[in-house]
Amino acid sequence: MRAMVLEQQRRPLRLADLPEPSAGPGQALISVSACGVCRTDLHIADGDLTEPKLPLVMGHQIVGTVVEPGEGAERFERGQRVGVPWLGWTCGECRYCRSGRENLCERARFTGYDLDGGYAELAVADERYCFPIPEGYPDEQAAPLLCAGLIGYRALRLVGDAERIGLYGFGASAHILCQVAAHQGRRVFAFTRKGDEEGQAFARQLGAEWAGSSEETPPEEIDGAIVFAPVGALMTTALRHSAKGARIISAGIHMSDVPSFPYEQLWGERVLGSVANLTREDGEEFMALAPRVPVRTEVELYSLEEANEALDAIRTGHVHGAVVIGCGRSSKR
Ligand SMILES: [Zn+2]
Ligand SMILES: [Zn+2]
Repeated sequence: MRAMVLEQQRRPLRLADLPEPSAGPGQALISVSACGVCRTDLHIADGDLTEPKLPLVMGHQIVGTVVEPGEGAERFERGQRVGVPWLGWTCGECRYCRSGRENLCERARFTGYDLDGGYAELAVADERYCFPIPEGYPDEQAAPLLCAGLIGYRALRLVGDAERIGLYGFGASAHILCQVAAHQGRRVFAFTRKGDEEGQAFARQLGAEWAGSSEETPPEEIDGAIVFAPVGALMTTALRHSAKGARIISAGIHMSDVPSFPYEQLWGERVLGSVANLTREDGEEFMALAPRVPVRTEVELYSLEEANEALDAIRTGHVHGAVVIGCGRSSKR
């Protein structure tokens, strides 16, 4: 099968012809039709995350169809459309797993990091961690739901009932969460890079009440924020603009240092926090919610061979919505 392989960090991915994988017990062999590209992939490729399996097939927003269930795998039928997210396996035994927090599992394995992912024509996944894909979403449009959507959704829950919510960094995740938050009756203030007027117009179009640059002061204090951009200083920027009781949540796996700040800015029961990974429950909840909003995803599509260009698009930030790779054997371009 064709795959784009990371052989060494800080090196471009290389197109390779790999042996076809086969499904082990409890796994499904999946013919990949689309795979979303996440900022986390960039952190893996660029060496910010230091322990990937190598060589590695990245990609943890996989949409495809089951071609062969492994021994004892009965959850999905041949031909059924499934999604594979970042959380690929958990131990079920550690104190986190036993307390409903499998997202924090000590021994978790992640798709496209510890396990081969979806920048390939075929992938195998433990069927217990896969999700059925809601009908009505073409494969490419569904892919960003699997990380940008559902880890963003977990972050939104951590923000609590915040009425006025700031979204810092308007990429794949924010463009989905903006729609969800507006649907929940929240008031969204979207922050983009300075001068990104197109991005600000895009945010308003998706339900943001106000959009401006992260250097601007929002029209009102915010009751909560999700910081998607990997910039620690935005945590304190959001804090400065927050009302008492606000929760400021970082949604990224890697971020530059958070600068120090006077305690009085945190006083008033403000909380700084982070979101890590997902639980299967998050996934099921979000997959049921997305079509009800309904969340519409805007995607920029690349071919499998163009995976390096797709990563570059996220690196430079010139993306409207989400970046997705079309991996299907039929979509060879
Ligand atoms: Zn991701
Ligand atoms: Zn565990």
